[in-house]
Amino acid sequence: MKRMLSGIKPTGRLTLGNYIGAIRNFVNYQNDYEMYIFIANMHAITVPQEKAELKRNTKDLIALYIACGLDPERVTIFLQSDVHEHAELGWIMTCNSYMGELQRMTQYKDKTAKGETGITAGLFTYPSLMAADILLYDADYVPVGVDQKQHVELTRNLAERFNNRYGDTFVVPEPLVEKVGAKVYSLQDPTKKMSKSDANPKGTIDLLDEPSVARKKIMSAVTDSIGIIQYDPENQPGISNLLTILSSLSGESIESIVARYDGKGYGDFKKEVGQCVFDFLTELQNKYKEIISSGLIEKVIKEGDEKARYIARKKVNKVKKKVGLEIF
Ligand code: ATP
Ligand code: MG
Repeated sequence: MKRMLSGIKPTGRLTLGNYIGAIRNFVNYQNDYEMYIFIANMHAITVPQEKAELKRNTKDLIALYIACGLDPERVTIFLQSDVHEHAELGWIMTCNSYMGELQRMTQYKDKTAKGETGITAGLFTYPSLMAADILLYDADYVPVGVDQKQHVELTRNLAERFNNRYGDTFVVPEPLVEKVGAKVYSLQDPTKKMSKSDANPKGTIDLLDEPSVARKKIMSAVTDSIGIIQYDPENQPGISNLLTILSSLSGESIESIVARYDGKGYGDFKKEVGQCVFDFLTELQNKYKEIISSGLIEKVIKEGDEKARYIARKKVNKVKKKVGLEIF
């Protein structure tokens, strides 16, 4: 079975975008791949985090992974900072990365271009840590959004560089970009990605939003004055976004939804999307509450950490020998 690895940063409350664009795919892949899913909390601290919030977001992320359908019996779910090998291999990867290639990474490039101050050295070098995250587990595939493809390319370069210099050590991973690039947009500005760090809460649906609040957000989503329900992201980004959401959550094709709404108005359509989101969140949150109060997340992380560490340790030992960091 091929191996797959992915992670999400606990930088905020998970959104419907994170579910539709990432977690839902992980759930689908879990039957066909040996999966490693981690909470990228060391990446989260590349930007300032408030301690209590980081802890809460981390726990919520674990509980939501499970509530969304990741099966801890099949998937190794672990906490990045618990597996010290990430920091160890991360440093070795940093020492094999060139300043030039890190300067070309979008996050750093965008922030410097905007003249942002307070950019940490961690934000500059995190792509090297991300390479370590992937290479530790000999992952064959890394499911990513288009925005993340660049990081997997860097990982491939670093793996090949290391293999050439020290002999075959790492599997060179492939990025796996979703064929149907389900991207969810802000409900208030449907040309902008829905995102955890959006300052306007009306634009995002958090997975832990009160379901009735989420329904209201759908009802007041920005649309257009065309009056026809059709999938046309260019001219009707708002309606198209709602179609993506409804189709992703219900499993009904966009064509079929569009056909059902032939000649009907936005009001009824929004009501259905709102109800669908309401039902989805209600069910998800019931599972989430059960998981949070059951002590399951502690058990899952303890077991996941152990499994991850076993593989990661072997890899780091091998790397240290090759580099000359181990003398006996
Ligand atoms: P931030 O605003 O802090 O960057 P984010 O919501 O973009 O948060 P990430 O942690 O950067 O979340 O990404 C986690 C995963 O969710 C990635 O695989 C990313 O491709 C996916 N993702 C994030 N937002 C969306 C979205 N609006 N639509 C589809 N997929 C998304
Ligand atoms: Mg992001």
